Amino acid sequence: MTHRTIHLFRKGLRLHDNPTLVAALESSEALYPVYVLDRAFLEGAMRMGALRWRFLLQSLRDLQRGLAALGSRLYVLQGRHEAVLRELVRRWGVTQLTFDAEVEPFYARLDDSLRALAQELGLSVQSCVAHTLYDVKRIIKANGGKPPLTYKKFLQVLSVLGEPDKPAREITRQDFEKCKTPTEEGSENEYQVPTLEDLGIEVDVEVLWPGGETQGLKRLEKHLESQGWVVNFSKPRTIPNSLLPSTTGLSPYFSLGCLSVRSFYYRLSNIYAQSKNHSLPPVSLQGQVLWREFFYTVASATPNFTKMAGNPICLQINWYENQEALDKWRTAQTGFPWIDAIMTQLRQEGWIHHLARHAVACFLTRGDLWISWEEGMKVFEEYLLDADYSVNAGNWMWLSASAFFHQYTRIFCPVRFGRRTDPDGQYLRKYLPALKNFPSKYIYEPWTAPPEVQEEAGCIVGKDYPLPMVDHSEVSQRNLALMRQVRSEQENTAQLTRDLADDPMEVGVKREHQDDQGSVTQDHSEKPERASKRFSPDSDCKALSYSWASDGMRLPELSGEVM
Ligand code: FAD
Repeated sequence: MTHRTIHLFRKGLRLHDNPTLVAALESSEALYPVYVLDRAFLEGAMRMGALRWRFLLQSLRDLQRGLAALGSRLYVLQGRHEAVLRELVRRWGVTQLTFDAEVEPFYARLDDSLRALAQELGLSVQSCVAHTLYDVKRIIKANGGKPPLTYKKFLQVLSVLGEPDKPAREITRQDFEKCKTPTEEGSENEYQVPTLEDLGIEVDVEVLWPGGETQGLKRLEKHLESQGWVVNFSKPRTIPNSLLPSTTGLSPYFSLGCLSVRSFYYRLSNIYAQSKNHSLPPVSLQGQVLWREFFYTVASATPNFTKMAGNPICLQINWYENQEALDKWRTAQTGFPWIDAIMTQLRQEGWIHHLARHAVACFLTRGDLWISWEEGMKVFEEYLLDADYSVNAGNWMWLSASAFFHQYTRIFCPVRFGRRTDPDGQYLRKYLPALKNFPSKYIYEPWTAPPEVQEEAGCIVGKDYPLPMVDHSEVSQRNLALMRQVRSEQENTAQLTRDLADDPMEVGVKREHQDDQGSVTQDHSEKPERASKRFSPDSDCKALSYSWASDGMRLPELSGEVM
């Protein structure tokens, strides 16, 4: 049967690697690409700040242009999904509904209601996985019905499953010649993407991350041009406070599906295939998208993944409730320039480097303020362009050592962390103009500058810039003791996301550790045979030196070391 189909875009705002759209085109005589701007759904699912609204509208406009170039168009309608679709099905004589499969609970609920509607109206439904490398249900099935809870175990399961599906074929003008998008008489100016103004949303900051597939692909191509950079990419070596992103900066595009993670993965594979050596997971670029996949997999099968209560993998911690302290952190008023600069970049631009996320997340939770990771996650959700249900919560649990990460004795110093890679504080000067004339010597701890230095810099600490809100060494030691206590009481929960073989203290491997200022930690452990090099859970990290405990890097468990 050939259908009259509505292809419903939700995430997946792209035309490349769009298997559901290909399936829709191949099974239909008429196809209506539709986006339902269901504000209640979007805002009920996750907090959505103005920057992300802007990114979404830009992405929709780009999709509209992309479809027009293929001889089709995008119908954008505002309202609740069910009511809008019910009306369109009737008006257009639709027989099939297609949409990408998604994993978040709010999408699962929407999918259920769409399937119920389809059943009621007698529509066929087609739905393919396009937002992740694998259908995460396959990963869970291959792991005996449970999500693998460590990255290492996750890679082992993937090595059994083999490579992800190849990206879908290209969609061309011929597709839309065979399967036309009917136009409604006189509707040329209808169904347009609304403006921010239409939605009553104000944003007055520069666009640094224009939304849409076109921009995403352009940025992707730019990165892949530099094959040396790709093959040597090692996440811990990238710089959190460079003035331009030292990583790909593609996350906003992946999060809304303007870019296909599968296309990226295979482009990387092609580059790796041409080189003698390349970095490996967890630190390589492919390793990064596998982290994403890991969190998607665990989130899809863990109840209350974005909460502490009722979340079986998360340590239950009596975090402090302190609205005033939370507000200082959120509004970049902690008095620690490194933390405040990062929070300023987040609020103004909607993207910060992974290790910068580490710094502010550790500071809010187990490092300094002992405030719940859920509070931090909500703030990130509002401001990040790449805000993502699974990845955000997964990383917040990681950083707060509530799950996944167990070297909790390592606490980032809000002064030394940033200074290592930007001793002159160029990043601080950019985001905290009040401090721009401070001498480098004092810029990370301006409260230590003598009064005459502060006067000369035109910034009196306590008046023009806040005093530090806590004594870092005092509170971090207190927090360490609290965390130790939690761990000893909840050892069983902690073990769930911990791979014993990952812990150097458990396997007793020989390591060298040079601390902190030079920060070199090397792993000289023997590597076991690999099932598959690409998915090796024991990637060869020998050549790398690490300054931070990041991304599952195996660092010695030190007793109470505060970095
Ligand atoms: P690259 O290093 O270039 O990596 C390429 C892609 O791999 C990224 O675009 C992203 O899709 C994926 N990736 C990289 N690192 C991770 C990771 N640790 N976990 C999962 N996927 C990863 N990322 C989000 O996409 N959305 C979030 O809401 C989010 N919240 C975070 C919260 C905290 C507290 C922390 C510490 C990290 C969070 N991350 C989140 C993960 C990571 O910081 C970003 O994905 C990364 O910094 C994006 O920059 P990039 O595209 O240059 O990454």
